[in-house]
Amino acid sequence: MRPKNLFLCVISPNFTPVKHPKMDFAFKTIHEFNDFFKDELTCYRFYEQQRWADGKPICPHCGSAKAPYTVKPRGKFQDIPSYRCSERECKLPFTVRTGTIFEGSKVELRKWFQAAYEITTSKKGISSVELATRIGVSQKTAWFINHRLRNMLNEAAPELLSGVIEVDETFIGGKEKNKSKSVRAKRSKHAAPVDNKTPVVGLLERGGNVRLFRMVKPDQATLIPLVKANVAPGSVVVTDGWHPYKVLKNEYDHVIVNHAQDEWVKGEFHTNSLEGFWGLFKRGIIGIYHSVSPQHLERYCAEFSTRYNQRKTSNIDRFLHVVKSAGKERITYRVLTSEGKPNEAKPE
Ligand SMILES: [Zn+2]
Repeated sequence: MRPKNLFLCVISPNFTPVKHPKMDFAFKTIHEFNDFFKDELTCYRFYEQQRWADGKPICPHCGSAKAPYTVKPRGKFQDIPSYRCSERECKLPFTVRTGTIFEGSKVELRKWFQAAYEITTSKKGISSVELATRIGVSQKTAWFINHRLRNMLNEAAPELLSGVIEVDETFIGGKEKNKSKSVRAKRSKHAAPVDNKTPVVGLLERGGNVRLFRMVKPDQATLIPLVKANVAPGSVVVTDGWHPYKVLKNEYDHVIVNHAQDEWVKGEFHTNSLEGFWGLFKRGIIGIYHSVSPQHLERYCAEFSTRYNQRKTSNIDRFLHVVKSAGKERITYRVLTSEGKPNEAKPE
């Protein structure tokens, strides 16, 4: 469990929380952001304040709040606040990064923060090539950081959507003519064009949040349980006239706007908000990431829906949301790459 290149020696049995001087969150540009997070120590102290109440360490291994030993690492890590749990059965070393998405990464916390800021403040997202140049890491590392941050944005148990909910599906995937011969050869000659794309269903609460799901198959058996799991009973559900949606009338006040018959608005009901979102989503995917493999699409869905759902919040609030959510379970490079090789992600 001991980090490999940290040589630890206990220097103080009592921990006194270090109060960071009142932090001025009023940075508006990336330059002000970088001035604020000027070194690793500032980033660690900042994160300690965010993760632990009053910055008082809690052992991430056993959950003990008993004051840990302060530890002085050697070499280039000597400025990093490090601890060792003071519980007799635990005694494990930790820093504020342990048990978060920042653990096990050689990339400085400062660069992680900058990446989080860049991703959350750019309107349409940022490619790994671009991120690599901005924070000064390799493209492969930037790709990994990007995906780990995206993966974290998936809400574990969000509240049910209610009121008027627009439900619609879209298909993400490249044009057939742009694909290589080998990819085209794998596809059945009789398959309809959409069969080659990945279906995504969107649920958008009028004036509220959007939720996206990558579907294996766009059919009733997949769609209806998804709607039921995310939309509160008694809501109004607006869809187009696609037949799998028809059974929704058994559970909800179902309004069908028949796009096939050129009907786009029915009284006060329409799916225009979701159509608008799809425009943004597709432009983002095509413009920034060029192509997205189906294995990683779910994380892009999380990134775009989070960006939409936080549209009314400030840049700083969005950044803080990422920092505060970073204690969630992290995805490892091995898991990420077993889903799809990093080279496949090069164009993103
Ligand atoms: Zn412990």
